[in-house]
Amino acid sequence: MYSVGLTMRLASHLKRFIILQGTSPWNMRDPMAARAFNFHGIGQPGPEIPANERPYWISIAAFEAFLDIFMAYRDRRRILITFDDGNRSDIEIAAPLLAKHRLNARFFVLTGRLEHPDYLSKQNIRDLRDMGFVIGSHGINHVDWVQQDTLGLDHELFQSRAVLEELLDQPVTEAAIPFGSYRRRVLRGLRTNGYTVAWSSDGSATALRGFLRPRLSIRNDTEPGAITRLLDSGEGFRCRWHQKLSVARKVLL
Ligand SMILES: [Zn+2]
Repeated sequence: MYSVGLTMRLASHLKRFIILQGTSPWNMRDPMAARAFNFHGIGQPGPEIPANERPYWISIAAFEAFLDIFMAYRDRRRILITFDDGNRSDIEIAAPLLAKHRLNARFFVLTGRLEHPDYLSKQNIRDLRDMGFVIGSHGINHVDWVQQDTLGLDHELFQSRAVLEELLDQPVTEAAIPFGSYRRRVLRGLRTNGYTVAWSSDGSATALRGFLRPRLSIRNDTEPGAITRLLDSGEGFRCRWHQKLSVARKVLL
């Protein structure tokens, strides 16, 4: 009886993993595999930007170099671009450059920072939506969701979504997890609060479908040449066992 129970538990864990990732752990070459690149601020960070976020700010020249690499890649549908934190540079620098190259992107904003001098205003968010970009939630206060109790987590997930839906007058169904920090209960919280996609920072390739979608964070020490190699070698579209196991550990715990 014990082994039947154990087998059923393992099968249910495996099923959860497949549903969340949109792919099975043994599928090393998902034909749908894409690469999601996550950016933060572009240009000079303003005085309000916290010290731990500054390493994620890159120069305009570096951002343009990354866009050139994406433009040169033969299958642009497999490259996804996201922005976290709702910095003012989203509307002032990133959006015009993306529009110039006809590249789409997703912007995940912190509703607790709306209207602050270095961050997006409500009107900026409507303007990004009107330019064709997808708007999603990054929570309210940029806190680690794993560290929140159930009430705190629900508040972050529900309230940020409600604020964005009211100001956009449309459904908001995607979230980006702050600091890429999650466990099973965070993913469950996202689902129960109406999200259909959760973007993490696991660094590996992502499926174009599925609930949990890993991204690679671009930092100021990320070499554009490394990204070119990642794309051209095809290595960037494979998901290695150690990456799958790392995600599985977080999904199941
Ligand atoms: Zn963030």
